Amino acid sequence: MVQLSGITPSGHAQLGNYLGALRRWAADGGPDDLYFVSDLHAMTTAHNPARLRSLATEQLAVLVAAGVAPERLFVQSDLVRELGALTWVLECTCAYGEAARMIQFKEKSAARSTSVEGGGQAGVRLSLLTYPVLMAADILAVGADEVPVGEDQRQHVELARTLARRFNSTYGEVFVVPEATLPPAGARVRDLAEPTRKMSKSAENSAGVVFVLDEPDQIRRKVRRARTDGDSAPVYDPENRPGVSNLLDILAACAGGDPAQLADKYPSYGVLKDAVADAVIEELRPVRDGTLALLDDVGELERIRKAGAERATERSAHRVSAALRMVGAA
Ligand code: ATP
Ligand code: MG
Repeated sequence: MVQLSGITPSGHAQLGNYLGALRRWAADGGPDDLYFVSDLHAMTTAHNPARLRSLATEQLAVLVAAGVAPERLFVQSDLVRELGALTWVLECTCAYGEAARMIQFKEKSAARSTSVEGGGQAGVRLSLLTYPVLMAADILAVGADEVPVGEDQRQHVELARTLARRFNSTYGEVFVVPEATLPPAGARVRDLAEPTRKMSKSAENSAGVVFVLDEPDQIRRKVRRARTDGDSAPVYDPENRPGVSNLLDILAACAGGDPAQLADKYPSYGVLKDAVADAVIEELRPVRDGTLALLDDVGELERIRKAGAERATERSAHRVSAALRMVGAA
């Protein structure tokens, strides 16, 4: 059984990434599972090369510091030759209509085409249309049979499944047919300033986003300013009181306990926010310290990255070669 999960360096890792993904990857990955920093996926909209490079390095360090086994980690661009070749083969297996009907493409290209700096529809990068095929290459290259994803990525895993089946029946059996699985229900962390939205590393306004590398003082400030929807005492009611319920969820995820019962323990917002800030600071402290230490130890991080790249290449090169051979391109 091989599961594959990734995180895109579209911004600095935030508390939701840690509680909803990284912490789980560290705790329950199987021996053959793989986790990767999907830096090539952060290039589908205007991007800054130096920032992309430094965010990818930082994210690798965060993953290691969060406890994800280094031998299961790799950075996507370290496999760019295999993945680039396989993407081309899979683009030649995919119909234009299949890519164009991806909901993410429709939504994101529509948003870009109406924005002035987007340059209209013609200014949308072609990669926004084709990145699900790169994602299929990510999945098929390493032979993943399970890809735990949220609702927004399900359609892309379905595409990978379709392409694997089509390739296998047209040219011969090369690929494992992957399946989208639901990740175990975990904390869905909301933006502290706008609790109707989920916390995101690429959010335009980061006032309500706690980053994994924020200093303790910054975390406390952001938590103190969190929206709590009204001034009656704290109650757990995610539907009608998303702000305070989010704080209680975060507290429960960091310090344990049941969010509804925690509400009774904290009679005022001030006391609750102090408790949340303390819990988040303590939960993130080892991750922050470990990340900063690794970023300081360039040699160690390079060694981890290189070993990860070698292992991931070893696990994918034979499939990519076989696919090229079977389509007549080698
Ligand atoms: P972006 O804004 O670029 O989409 P993101 O913060 O949503 O960034 P992703 O790279 O899309 O992060 O997702 C990485 C992992 O973190 C995924 O497993 C995703 O489900 C999880 N995740 C992201 N945001 C949250 C959140 N607010 N709460 C819980 N899990 C989250
Ligand atoms: Mg996201």
